[in-house]
Amino acid sequence: MFTMSHSLYSRRRFIKNSSAAAAMVGLTGIACANQSSGPDHRLGVALLGLGGYATGQLGPALLHTKYCRLAGIITGSPDKVPEWQEKYGLSDKSVYSYDDMDRIADDDDIDIVYVVTPNALHLPYAERAAAAGKHVICEKPMEISSERCRQMMAACERAGVKLQIGYRLQYDPYHHEMIRLAQEEVHGKLKQIHSAFSFFGVHGSNWRFTDRSLAGGGPMMDLGVYPLQATRYINQAEPLSVTAQQINSYPDRMDGMEETIMWQMRFPNDVLTHSIASYAARDNYLTVNAEKGRYGLTTAYTYGPLAGYVNGDDLFAYDHRQQTAQMDAFALNILKDTPVKADGQEGLRDVICIEAIYEAARTGREVKIDMG
Ligand code: NAD
Repeated sequence: MFTMSHSLYSRRRFIKNSSAAAAMVGLTGIACANQSSGPDHRLGVALLGLGGYATGQLGPALLHTKYCRLAGIITGSPDKVPEWQEKYGLSDKSVYSYDDMDRIADDDDIDIVYVVTPNALHLPYAERAAAAGKHVICEKPMEISSERCRQMMAACERAGVKLQIGYRLQYDPYHHEMIRLAQEEVHGKLKQIHSAFSFFGVHGSNWRFTDRSLAGGGPMMDLGVYPLQATRYINQAEPLSVTAQQINSYPDRMDGMEETIMWQMRFPNDVLTHSIASYAARDNYLTVNAEKGRYGLTTAYTYGPLAGYVNGDDLFAYDHRQQTAQMDAFALNILKDTPVKADGQEGLRDVICIEAIYEAARTGREVKIDMG
């Protein structure tokens, strides 16, 4: 389960400056090469799947990381290669196709493979990366079933490599602040959480909206992971049971998948949560209700800057790149051999919850959640 760093809050000046990512992951003891001088000791990351997220967010974030750098690409689209080579200075030897990616076993420049493909391809590529002896970052959702998540964890364990799930918000100061306010009961005991993450995408042609075999489900598998994660980490506890409802208001779209889903969870200590994920409307918020106060995020789940409040006041200002912090944290976990915060267990627990949410929506019953 997500654990928060209390020292972060007592030293808030750190997250107001541009060293926020480094401050969040703890810098001591690791020799870190500067980009402009000396040998580069940063760990090498190969991005696998050069789609929207890799191109728009992860590649650019790797230009700012201190403990890792882009060292390779693995792609099925040769037409994308020249642009990536030019932008990131990658030589031909650092470019792999899906067919020949197993050769990275012999590439000492690559330490980490970051899997950024459609959801149902996370397992096979993570297994190949682990078998090649590379540490793995896997995008969310971890996979499309809890069984496949367990297979991924087993593959990484067998190969002796670390696994991180791409939960960028577990490395975000505003989300840390929500946890602190709840767990320290700054405004009294936590009672309820309301949250939604939705956009209008139902007419889209991407695999998310058209191919259940790749997506594993509709917005629950994609956007819904964020409110689900937030309710779990703000509670610092696992949900006991769930009820859920779903609707498809565009009958010829989202074949075999939900268009909108709403779920309610019971947590220990009588905390109730209510969340929505939809491809038919726009929303992006988190509201936390405590006995004596209300705090939350009015821009909760996008790449930032996020926006938030505590009662009537705005949250502190900060300058922070979520993906940079996430990847640097993983690189430090490898360099120092420390536990990964957003690990495979975290990814698995979300998928166990998603399976329970789908069952509750399908049966109309309250479903108990068994983390196993
Ligand atoms: P995308 O469709 O833009 O990119 C997917 C990539 O996978 C493409 O490069 C595509 O060529 C490749 N691919 C390989 N095999 C494929 C196949 N059989 N069919 C289709 N594409 C194939 O998707 P995306 O938005 O980049 O999402 C990729 C993953 O990243 C998903 O798991 C998604 O949930 C996750 N994601 C995470 C975040 C985040 O904030 N953490 C944001 C966006 C996406």
